[in-house]
Amino acid sequence: MSPYDAMAWDFSTEPEFRRELDWMAGFVRAEIWPLETVADDLGADGFERAIAPLRDEVKERGLWAAHLPPALGGQSFGQVKLGLMHEILGSSPHAPLVFGCNAPDSGNAELLALAGTSDQKQQWLEPLLAGDLRSAFSMTEPDTAGSDPTLLATRAIDDGDAWVIDGHKWFSSNGSIADFLVVMAVTDPDARPHQRASMFIVPADTPGVRIVRDVPTMEQPAEHFGRLGGHAEIVYDGVRVARDALLGARGAGFELAQQRLGPGRIHHCMRWLGVSRRAFDMLCERALGRHAHGSLLAEKQTVQNWIADSAAQMQAARLMTLHAAWRIDAEGAAAARQEIALIKFFGAGVLHDVVDRALQAHGALGYSTDLPLEAMYRFARAARIYDGPDEVHRQSVARRILRGYRAPEGGVPTEHVPTRRAAARERFAGLLEAVTSND
Ligand SMILES: Cc1cc2nc3c(=O)[nH]c(=O)nc-3n(C[C@H](O)[C@H](O)[C@H](O)COP(=O)(O)OP(=O)(O)OC[C@H]3O[C@@H](n4cnc5c(N)ncnc54)[C@H](O)[C@@H]3O)c2cc1C
Repeated sequence: MSPYDAMAWDFSTEPEFRRELDWMAGFVRAEIWPLETVADDLGADGFERAIAPLRDEVKERGLWAAHLPPALGGQSFGQVKLGLMHEILGSSPHAPLVFGCNAPDSGNAELLALAGTSDQKQQWLEPLLAGDLRSAFSMTEPDTAGSDPTLLATRAIDDGDAWVIDGHKWFSSNGSIADFLVVMAVTDPDARPHQRASMFIVPADTPGVRIVRDVPTMEQPAEHFGRLGGHAEIVYDGVRVARDALLGARGAGFELAQQRLGPGRIHHCMRWLGVSRRAFDMLCERALGRHAHGSLLAEKQTVQNWIADSAAQMQAARLMTLHAAWRIDAEGAAAARQEIALIKFFGAGVLHDVVDRALQAHGALGYSTDLPLEAMYRFARAARIYDGPDEVHRQSVARRILRGYRAPEGGVPTEHVPTRRAAARERFAGLLEAVTSND
């Protein structure tokens, strides 16, 4: 796409949807933010009880699992509307759960909706959507580079009436509480790199599935097991699943993963903007409330720069994300690959910068757990790694851009002034001669 040919971008939404967004913003702030400070004390069961009536309200409003087609209880909103919705939901880590669009269940539901057989939909998708089952997506391995999934080592062997899966995965989010795992494994090692892997639905209680641990992380440094949001290490040891465990076509694993991840990245980016906005509000509030060295922080140019730079970055990220969403709606996820890659690394950087500045402006208070900023900071760090590290998205963007260029002929830059001047002198020789002879 030429950078000049997209003057008719339209991210507007109808007034009825604006009203829904306003309702969501009020609801998330009034009903979900307060839960954040007691979620750990409530425990898993108490938390489920606390959010059950909220979920009912969301369902009654017709906003549950909005990413799915209407036949599956969703709204088919399209990515621009979903993006605007996720910006609001991103303000609280619990809001996506209340709206039935939390990762990884939402992505797995999309996969099942896209590629599942009617039996698979009935067995896995319907209870997943009803909130009766949980799922995990099990692709990354500790011993191969997740950023280059063509290196996957987990194998699924065709054994007549069954598939037998052997491999070692980690960072399967929610794996330790999942009822089923969507596992990516190599079925056709001799095929072309992106046609080697397939996806399987593996019930978590299948013999040979060994959940080793939830890997402690920056987000949850203490050892724990079986909690929402844990990142499981899993060994698949001769796991036999029936032939109908194959999700989508054999060899279509990468294609399906791309379809799952494209729109999902838009939702991530918009949720990050929700986090950024909350941190930004804290930054501005602090600037107006803290006095040091003879003036408010708000009157110091460094802090003014933080506020102005944050506002500019957030605005840029928001427009870029909505543009990518608009392109997906207009032309499909495959056509928007560059826009999606651009916003994935740019949005992660904006999130990091805004949270970092807000934390800095609060000094020791920002570093303490008396404010949510330290948790946001840890959350922000992961955004630069999951769903593809920054470097891979930058590489993919640069490669695509470079396809539109070629090396200069004879090694002379196209803009080389002496060369251009010589050509211009030749072209305008008559005029130049006339000017010179008039002197
Ligand atoms: C919070 C969190 C949740 C996650 N959830 C899931 C999940 O649910 N399911 C799942 O399967 N996985 C999940 N992951 C794993 C995630 O997708 C991988 O961590 C990611 O794909 C990177 O793979 P890797 O960790 O193996 O890093 P590697 O591939 O080993 O890369 C390490 C580093 O090498 C550098 N690098 C790589 N390629 C290039 C390049 N081309 N140019 C320059 N530098 C490069 C980058 O700096 C990169 O960070 C999650 C990760 C995190 C942090």
